[in-house]
Amino acid sequence: MTYIRGVVEEVRKLAEGIREYLVKLEREVSPVPGQFAMLWMPRVGEIPLSFADADGSRTRFIVARVGRVTGFIHERIGEGSRIYLRGPLGRGFTQVSGRRCLLVAGGYGLAPLYFLAKRLRGRGCHVKALLGFKSDREAFYREEFGELCEVGVAVEEGSAGFRGTAVDLLEKVLERESFERVYTCGKEEMMIEVSRRCLDRGIPVEASLERYIRCGVGICGSCVLEPLGLRVCRDGPVFDGAILLRLDEERVCHDR
Ligand SMILES: Cc1cc2nc3c(=O)[nH]c(=O)nc-3n(C[C@H](O)[C@H](O)[C@H](O)COP(=O)(O)OP(=O)(O)OC[C@H]3O[C@@H](n4cnc5c(N)ncnc54)[C@H](O)[C@@H]3O)c2cc1C
Repeated sequence: MTYIRGVVEEVRKLAEGIREYLVKLEREVSPVPGQFAMLWMPRVGEIPLSFADADGSRTRFIVARVGRVTGFIHERIGEGSRIYLRGPLGRGFTQVSGRRCLLVAGGYGLAPLYFLAKRLRGRGCHVKALLGFKSDREAFYREEFGELCEVGVAVEEGSAGFRGTAVDLLEKVLERESFERVYTCGKEEMMIEVSRRCLDRGIPVEASLERYIRCGVGICGSCVLEPLGLRVCRDGPVFDGAILLRLDEERVCHDR
């Protein structure tokens, strides 16, 4: 797969250690929400990033600073910088029409779910989003989601609003409201809990999993989910919630 060149048009600081990049690509791409791109920084490295939005040749990415490549992006990539990417890659979220959908997101997991909220709205779905953050300083995209759908925000060490995790808020919401589909992206422990609580109630769930992705096209084996043999980059990153529960069971059995 060849690289697509792009130019960064705008950079926005969203929260502590989180930035948004608006990129104009040399050609149109048509990702499905949940699909990702391999962003290549020559002489530094290549990393997977979810599409946070895409409209023709304009795309948006949200980058959380964790290490070498993301640190380089935060420090050195600004308006006018050239970037290179491969994609769209992987399997995205199932896009339903006219359903009641609930999105449960944490941290940079908001990126693909923002894109999904936009698309689901366009398909006549009723959408509600639950956004979970550790602290007020890490919170972002509340207004952006608010323009698209109903929003609930959970902040673990928050000063106002719901104090707790996204899973605590989910539990409260499911007591009062019903949904036909749940989508989740964030920390794996959170997604396992979301999957468990929704599948117990008979609500289908899809979750976007993260592993160390190297080739991005299913060849190198670095992102295989053992012992299921599924490749995150090719068979995912979006999987049925039941897969997460199976992985969790295998982990528990293995640790015994
Ligand atoms: C399908 C997919 C979509 C993603 N979408 C986004 C996104 O939209 N925005 C975003 O900010 N990030 C996203 N990520 C995560 C992002 O790719 C990693 O944070 C990035 O690769 C880290 O690179 P680095 O060189 O900065 O960190 P490194 O220097 O490689 O690592 C720094 C630290 O982070 C840990 N780490 C690195 N990568 C991973 C990983 N994949 N899983 C667990 N721990 C890891 C390392 O063990 C190390 O402790 C996504 C990952 C996947 C698989």
